[in-house]
Amino acid sequence: MAAIPAKARAVVIGGGVSGCSVAYHLAKAGWTDVVLLERKQLTSGTTWHAAGLIGQLRGSANMTRLAKYSADLYVKLEAETGVATGMRQVGSISVALTEHRREELLRQATVARIFGVDVAEISPSEVKAMYPHLNVSDVVGAVHLPLDGQCDPANIAMALAKGARMRGAQIFEHTKVTGVRQAGGRVTGVEYVNAEGEPGFIAADVVVNCGGMWGRDLAAQSGVTLPLHACEHFYLITEPVEGLGHLPVLRVPDECAYYKSDAGKMMIGAFEPKAKPWGMGGIREDFMFDTLPEDWEHFMPILEAATNRMPLFQTAGIHTFFNGPESFTPDDRYYLGEAPELGGYWIAAGYNSVGIAGSGGAGMALASWITEGEPPFDLWEVDIRRAQPFQRNRAYLKERVSETLGLLYADHFPYRQVVTSRGVRRSPIHEHLKARGAVFGEVAGWERANWFARPGQEREYHYSWKRQNWFENQKAEHLAVRTGVGLFDMTSFGKIRVEGRDACAFLNRVCSAEVDVAPGRIVYTMFLNDRGGIEADLTVTRLSETAYLLVVPGATLQRNLAWLRRCLGEEFAVITDVTAGESVLCVMGPKARDLMARVSPDDFSNAEHPFGTAREVEVGMGIARAHRVTYVGELGWELYVSADQTAHVFEALEAAGEGLGLTLCGLHTLDSCRIEKAYRHWGHDITDEDHVLEAGLGFSVSKKKAAFLGREAVLRKAEAGLARRMVQFRMEDPEVMLFHNEAIVRDGRIVGPVTSGNYGHFLGGAIGMGYVPCAGESEAEVLASTYEIEVAGVRHRAVASLVPMHDPKSERVRM
Ligand SMILES: Cc1cc2nc3c(=O)[nH]c(=O)nc-3n(C[C@H](O)[C@H](O)[C@H](O)COP(=O)(O)OP(=O)(O)OC[C@H]3O[C@@H](n4cnc5c(N)ncnc54)[C@H](O)[C@@H]3O)c2cc1C
Repeated sequence: MAAIPAKARAVVIGGGVSGCSVAYHLAKAGWTDVVLLERKQLTSGTTWHAAGLIGQLRGSANMTRLAKYSADLYVKLEAETGVATGMRQVGSISVALTEHRREELLRQATVARIFGVDVAEISPSEVKAMYPHLNVSDVVGAVHLPLDGQCDPANIAMALAKGARMRGAQIFEHTKVTGVRQAGGRVTGVEYVNAEGEPGFIAADVVVNCGGMWGRDLAAQSGVTLPLHACEHFYLITEPVEGLGHLPVLRVPDECAYYKSDAGKMMIGAFEPKAKPWGMGGIREDFMFDTLPEDWEHFMPILEAATNRMPLFQTAGIHTFFNGPESFTPDDRYYLGEAPELGGYWIAAGYNSVGIAGSGGAGMALASWITEGEPPFDLWEVDIRRAQPFQRNRAYLKERVSETLGLLYADHFPYRQVVTSRGVRRSPIHEHLKARGAVFGEVAGWERANWFARPGQEREYHYSWKRQNWFENQKAEHLAVRTGVGLFDMTSFGKIRVEGRDACAFLNRVCSAEVDVAPGRIVYTMFLNDRGGIEADLTVTRLSETAYLLVVPGATLQRNLAWLRRCLGEEFAVITDVTAGESVLCVMGPKARDLMARVSPDDFSNAEHPFGTAREVEVGMGIARAHRVTYVGELGWELYVSADQTAHVFEALEAAGEGLGLTLCGLHTLDSCRIEKAYRHWGHDITDEDHVLEAGLGFSVSKKKAAFLGREAVLRKAEAGLARRMVQFRMEDPEVMLFHNEAIVRDGRIVGPVTSGNYGHFLGGAIGMGYVPCAGESEAEVLASTYEIEVAGVRHRAVASLVPMHDPKSERVRM
């Protein structure tokens, strides 16, 4: 066997399906000098015992893209490597026992169709014809994906490992990584102990943590946040059942179960609502191909439902009760990308029980990101930079994953909130809002008032795919913002201070807009990448000659900090996260000026405080910095108040608002207002794969600045013309609801997903945004088409607009 090299271009840690796929794709991308180190044997962690379901139905556009890539790759892998992968395209059926579930399945089918995945709705009798063993008496709907498959998971990993080796990668088993060395904020290589117990070191600029459930603690050794926690995960296999035959994979999410027939036996796996976290005291050093103890009591509710669903379980003997650990994450999505804390430290871990189906696409995407410097398309959903530093907390993780395992098969209703591990990050006026009816949701650990219940109204969500129970509350809040004045608590905004002699020069290089402006000016700008894609949209306020405040969404703060730190070159500028220091209270609506006049002696007229400026003001007996900006498309101010004075300023505003109809508003209303104004939402409408000009945000790009990141890509696109453009839609039927990921249908043909949706209470219908291909077309030609939006398989007519449907000239904003 070859000796472990002293140097490699990349070292992959972990020989499960994730590590093997990353090594395979790095090698395929031409990085042949790759070393994979596995502490025991390949697949001996979680991979060997997976059920081997390869499904393509996902809730979102790019996750579907990745799942489809995996399925397509695995079909070809056996021929390529000679390893029998057991991959068979037996197809899959997902059945719905409720109308809610049917709607969800049909919505997912629409997403799948956008990406060319073969999917069809089938009737209960068609299900019965394909799956004779199934009791379909209460089945209300189903979808069939003929090209979904099942495989032998260990052999998929072995085939990927072989494919990597065939291209030059080296794999060493029984070699444990004991540490990752770093210098100057970048990795320099890995320390290991080999099979003989001897220590060694491989120098490398790129290290990829594919350590599965070991990954969190391995990352923590290097100061890297990788929030995941193992849970026990169960399935059961029967003795051979006579005449079982070849069956598609079957999912019955309403009973938390999936079924697979293999070699004449039937398997049933579970995604029970309350899972059992595992490994709190660490993982035994000799853990290898291990199983965990049976727990019949825990599994029994699933089995009971199965005996009704598939009566063969009443008589079939049990061959295997399997329990194995798998890592789960706080939001049920895996992690890919470079850790914000350490350059060259990459991650592909935390697969939430879809690591076999996920790793093919994830390995491709990560390898492309590593070798090209940018992800192949928007991967924000699975980006490691969404992890919050506090999520390293193990008590938080343990409680949360007990819920997230089951959520995989729960109804994925829009606006669904987690119930565990809540309350970690709170605004100083959290209790004030709670006392006034706030119903909270969670983002990045922040508790945020999503809507306000009326006195006596139940403070709970009643989820649905139609209008939910808070629809009228949102409408009242929305109309208050449009006709009176509303108050939002936006304390969860990420706030970044950039300060120092070169702060201006640095930011002018990173931002698309001109930020060398007078102190007190606020600039709406993008961070662009080399492709002209939008890494962030934000406001930059010049506080002084040498200090700026950058305001970003709370959910993207870590990503934005990482981008800034990565871009900082020789300039002298200090980047500090000051999020917790200031709260943000937003007063928005045509009566916002009247409100401010009642609570402050300062002058809020257009002459004294024009749009796009910030200055210190007195509020009650406190001091705030009032920023004249808006995300709802109305006159208004964001008041930045130091955390200690927030409660006082809130009380002063509230008292002054009496008689003016000041209405407390939640985040749902913020979103419904912004979508009427066609303000883009980063992560949905605009991402790093969306070109700033196609997003319709060219106004935020300086025409005068000679140099800034992304400038060349902007010039190229301006020259070449737009290939697609952002369009706003309003549904003609006021009952139709849009959330996102519905399909845009132009002249009868699906052209892409709705990137975001909400209800336009002022405009009287659901509003959606999304890109429409337009190469070589004029605006008039784009608008001349007929548009429909496909929602759960049904097409509804929509009105299209290239200018904001609400206040297109921004007269209300500047009133
Ligand atoms: C019961 C069950 C059923 C499942 N069914 C399915 C399914 O049907 N479809 C599906 O897609 N997924 C399924 N999964 C999930 C799937 O098995 C996992 O998501 C996947 O195997 C995770 O792969 P991984 O490479 O991230 O982790 P692992 O396979 O655990 O690999 C991590 C590897 O890293 C190694 N390692 C850790 N630390 C070090 C170190 N310091 N140095 C060197 N090596 C190290 C470990 O030894 C291990 O081999 C199932 C899981 C379970 C438990």
